[in-house]
Amino acid sequence: MSSAASLASSLLRREILDLHAYHVPDSTGYIKLDAMENPYSVPPALRGEIAEAVASAAINRYPDPAATSLKEQIRGVLGLPEGMEVLLGNGSDELIQLLAMALNKPGATLLGVEPSFVMYRMIATFTGMRYASVPLTTNSGAADFSLDLPATLAAIRREQPALIFLAYPNNPTGNLFPADAVVQIIEAAQGLVVVDEAYYAFASDSFIPRLARYPNLLVMRTFSKLGMAGLRLGFLTGDAAWLAQLEKLRLPYNVGILPQLVAGKLLAHHAVLLQQAEQIKRDRAGLYRQLSEIAGVRVYPSEANFLLFRVANAPEVFDGLKRRGVLIKNLHGGHPMLNGCLRVTVGTPDECAKFVAALQDTITQLA
Ligand code: PMP
Repeated sequence: MSSAASLASSLLRREILDLHAYHVPDSTGYIKLDAMENPYSVPPALRGEIAEAVASAAINRYPDPAATSLKEQIRGVLGLPEGMEVLLGNGSDELIQLLAMALNKPGATLLGVEPSFVMYRMIATFTGMRYASVPLTTNSGAADFSLDLPATLAAIRREQPALIFLAYPNNPTGNLFPADAVVQIIEAAQGLVVVDEAYYAFASDSFIPRLARYPNLLVMRTFSKLGMAGLRLGFLTGDAAWLAQLEKLRLPYNVGILPQLVAGKLLAHHAVLLQQAEQIKRDRAGLYRQLSEIAGVRVYPSEANFLLFRVANAPEVFDGLKRRGVLIKNLHGGHPMLNGCLRVTVGTPDECAKFVAALQDTITQLA
């Protein structure tokens, strides 16, 4: 071992040494359906306007640390209820980290359900916070990924979590947990419940209108799935009493001047982004139908911009798709309930057609 490696392994926290970094595969040259991005680029009519704004941006100066105008715009465009504050993050990943740092009193627990977004567990590990989880349910041996409400309520009583994350809809399963079950969790929890609405643009419900009812509820959203993954912009919204405290942990210039400017331009054309989301929802329905007609494929219902599906030999199917130029996400091996599972982002109609053809071809060849 080199002297730097031995020094690092003696100085670093055990849980960091044991951690695997979040893996992002090289997607160069592939039809990229692995990361729940919006497949549509910036509308041509907007490009000139964005280029002009970027060209005259004061990038020699620090950005507005309060991002006042962008926050006002978010409040207006998304119709946030009166009195609800906004805290911006460099992606919602950063906000998960900020919440864990803020609530990690000695012995405090972060509770999640599993399988869900892996960063909840990873960030609990980074921040040295205790992590507990409740499995989603299985139905006749095969996972259907619904919320196990009795087990979740029992875990809340047992673990007394300071912080609970619920992805609504859930990633990587795509389903939207029943609102009344989420309400029961919020009502039973002594700690803070964060409803993570990363996929809100593709879903039929939101907890934002319910914010005022629950003092222990915050809603988190991201613009990553709405065409701005490259900007890194997410936000938390909820009562000012929470957000004023959390604001103290936000690094002063966490959202750069270019993301602030470009997101402002895009949000001024929010209707265009919503039209793209509507297109993706229509294409999701078509893709769901097509996948459900392929023998050997079990596809799960989704209110997000991706579909989870199960096949007999997921790693081989994943490799076969890659060889045919299509990159999706292999979830096999990540969690026992996800064995045999693959996740595909809803791309453009052309990308979806190429994916389906490659999948049919791969499955036929493997049979
Ligand atoms: N929450 C959920 C449920 C997600 O799936 C993701 C991204 N995959 C995020 C949060 C993080 O999004 P970002 O950091 O891009 O805002």
